[in-house]
Amino acid sequence: MRRVGKNTFAEIYFRGCNPSFVETSDGYVMIDSPQQPIDAVRWRERMEEKAPIRYLINTEPHGDHIAGNCYFPGVQVVGHTSLQACFDRYLNQSGTIEEKRERMKTADPDSVWLMGHPDYKDPNGPKITFDDKLTLHVGNHTINILHHPGHTGPQTTIHVPEEGVAFTGDNIFYKCRTWLQEADPWAWLDSLKRLDALDVETYVPGHGDPCGKAYLKEQAQIVENWVGMVERFVDRGVSAEDALKEPIDETKYDPYPMGQNLFMHNERLNGMTMRNLHKRILEKKQKAGA
Ligand SMILES: [Zn+2]
Repeated sequence: MRRVGKNTFAEIYFRGCNPSFVETSDGYVMIDSPQQPIDAVRWRERMEEKAPIRYLINTEPHGDHIAGNCYFPGVQVVGHTSLQACFDRYLNQSGTIEEKRERMKTADPDSVWLMGHPDYKDPNGPKITFDDKLTLHVGNHTINILHHPGHTGPQTTIHVPEEGVAFTGDNIFYKCRTWLQEADPWAWLDSLKRLDALDVETYVPGHGDPCGKAYLKEQAQIVENWVGMVERFVDRGVSAEDALKEPIDETKYDPYPMGQNLFMHNERLNGMTMRNLHKRILEKKQKAGA
């Protein structure tokens, strides 16, 4: 657990994303939920002992940000309208409860009994939604919830001016491999500019350590590097599948290693990035030519 603002904490050592919370004078506001069931229930019991959890705000639809929502029953979940629409689909992407429980027997035995537990049947998707932005006032804190598409379509930033902190989900990967498997790279670059314009000292990324404004340029450069690489194939009329016949040296585009417990995806990530960006660049090109 890392203090990132006067009353703000982020957990950067869990398996999964960086779930965080703001401690207000009227209870907690959580940002994303711990992915591993045992981490989620331990967190909840520690927090509820002190104060109620008022809101849980999700930054994006990926499982490492939303899978733990079910362990916070009754807590009001806030998310972008398009996150609400895809919540269950994303949650079920990695298989059925039985399959997940089976995998957990080796990956995280302490969590097995909590997976599919009758007390946590409701996946707890967003009930409070917004399109462009939403502001909540909780105790003495202002919680600005902003739609910043990029890494995913529903991507959301939570800006807390009193703390000088913004939580970005995976629009920032701090010094760990950037995932562009479904990104809109141009929206992402635009959102990084909007992040830069916020009056904050600290960004809590989806993965990696909290960082300052200087890293935003580096993050943008990594997105641009990938776009440039794929563009060269599109310009020569080479399909994504043909481009993938040659191995990609990802260190030429992104200098950082794969982050927290994501190593198992190392092999397939380059293919996912190529297919996504190739499709988007081709569409953009065709639109410009039409
Ligand atoms: Zn993500």
